[in-house]
Amino acid sequence: MRVLLTGGAGFIGSHTALKLLEAGHEAISLDNLSNSSAESLKRVSQITGRPAPLCVGDCTVEADVERVFREYAPIDAVIHFAGLKAVGESVSKPLDYYQNNLDSTFTLLRVMQKYDCRTVVFSSSATVYGTNQEMPLREDFPTGCTNPYGWTKWMNERVLTDCAKAMGLNVVLLRYFNPIGAHESGMIGEDPSGIPNNLMPFICQVASGKLERLNVFGNDYPTPDGTGVRDYIHVCDLAEGHLAALEYAADHPGTEIVNLGTGIGYSVLDIVHTFEKANGLTLPYTIAPRRPGDIAVCYADPSKAEKLLGWHARRSLEDMCRDSWNWQKNNPDGYGK
Ligand code: NAD
Ligand code: UDP
Repeated sequence: MRVLLTGGAGFIGSHTALKLLEAGHEAISLDNLSNSSAESLKRVSQITGRPAPLCVGDCTVEADVERVFREYAPIDAVIHFAGLKAVGESVSKPLDYYQNNLDSTFTLLRVMQKYDCRTVVFSSSATVYGTNQEMPLREDFPTGCTNPYGWTKWMNERVLTDCAKAMGLNVVLLRYFNPIGAHESGMIGEDPSGIPNNLMPFICQVASGKLERLNVFGNDYPTPDGTGVRDYIHVCDLAEGHLAALEYAADHPGTEIVNLGTGIGYSVLDIVHTFEKANGLTLPYTIAPRRPGDIAVCYADPSKAEKLLGWHARRSLEDMCRDSWNWQKNNPDGYGK
């Protein structure tokens, strides 16, 4: 298949491009590089020995999207990663988030319709499960969000579901849990700008000495060690999940919602200790107050992904910690953007 990856230069997009190329598909990316570097796809091309073209353009601009559809006709399917993703920033700049994350989908769908492209896989998030208490989270549970970023995912799910019905599209909505890790080569990985918000990139910068210590946000949650529990998934497993979703979507009209997680919850201190053990390092940390908006526990029921897509996560927490550090160690300044 010839696949368009919006946001393909980003963390998950670049790993997915790599897996698509390895599986014999073509991967064309459209990215405005607002949170990424063109270097990621150059490295994907080096690793795979295959071209990984990048069109620099904005997914909210119809002419930019159409240029790619024209130049690379026929595009068989789209994986729609493009979006802003910082939860805290979405609270202070909601309009930027609603505009970018929704307009990009509207524009993409219009151009897809014009070029008769019917298959789309969308990057959604476990954040749409809101404050559900019952674990593990199943795709049929009620949804609702606690911040504008989450609502953009929720609204995009709605838009895509309605358009699938009306326009005869094949849609798979993937609800990611917590992607971490990096490709085993250490050549591509997560490259956040500024001080990281997320746990693993923060830990990596503490390990490299860039940051002094980790703040563990709360140790009074109702969890075994009191720290927050999440379902961390290796980004290469996640990328392989996209491949499975794409191959499923290609000949299944309608909409399916699928969790991509491992089904296992690990606490912040589990991550700290596994990272230390896997990499032979000591991580200084302090217990800090809870971070506003955080929930205690969040993990997936991944059984639908196995049943529908024949996919399950294969890599362990040790793999995730080792590969995250390998990327950070080899690229202390990320892609140097
Ligand atoms: P990322 O920021 O690394 O990748 C997103 C890419 O989209 C970036 O390269 C950015 O430059 C690009 N982009 C943003 N707006 C654009 C626009 N209007 N036009 C063109 N390109 C644009 O983030 P990621 O971690 O790779 O996430 C990919 C997708 O998965 C996002 O939609 C994100 O919300 C979603 N997601 C991520 C996580 C996570 O923890 N990383 C969890 C759940 C869902
Ligand atoms: N966390 C932490 N210190 C940090 C960043 C995160 O203790 O510097 C905790 C956070 O409270 C949550 C878990 O790590 O319990 C995962 O947070 P992250 O931001 O990576 O993902 P989230 O699940 O919140 O999207």
